[in-house]
Amino acid sequence: MRLFSIFKDILGNLVKGPVTRNYPAEVRDPFPGERGKLVIDEKSCIFCGMCAKKCPANALTVTRQPKEWKFERFRCIICGACVEACPKKCLSMVPRLAEEPKAEAKAKEKAE
Ligand code: SF4
Ligand code: SF4
Repeated sequence: MRLFSIFKDILGNLVKGPVTRNYPAEVRDPFPGERGKLVIDEKSCIFCGMCAKKCPANALTVTRQPKEWKFERFRCIICGACVEACPKKCLSMVPRLAEEPKAEAKAKEKAE
């Protein structure tokens, strides 16, 4: 019975094509509502620290002297509180899945 199920999947894939994608060359569109990843336009940042104060995960560290804005990506829970709190609107969320692999693929293409 189990063997039959495997053959059914194999035949299905032969007829319809594989259910997987040729990642990272072929990247799916982000899911609706995906928040993406946090990016900063550092030129507009005034190092006020509002984003760090609002961050519930302590993923951000801002210092005025020296002027530094640090982000620990793996602490971030992608809540967007920092984006809302920023008075200069220099923080934003960009689609994560759509951006990175394509950029890497382009860099690879150029290198080849
Ligand atoms: S998105 Fe949320 S968790 Fe991530 S850095 Fe901003 S405030 Fe912190
Ligand atoms: S809230 Fe905005 S302007 Fe202030 S430190 Fe954070 S990113 Fe910079």
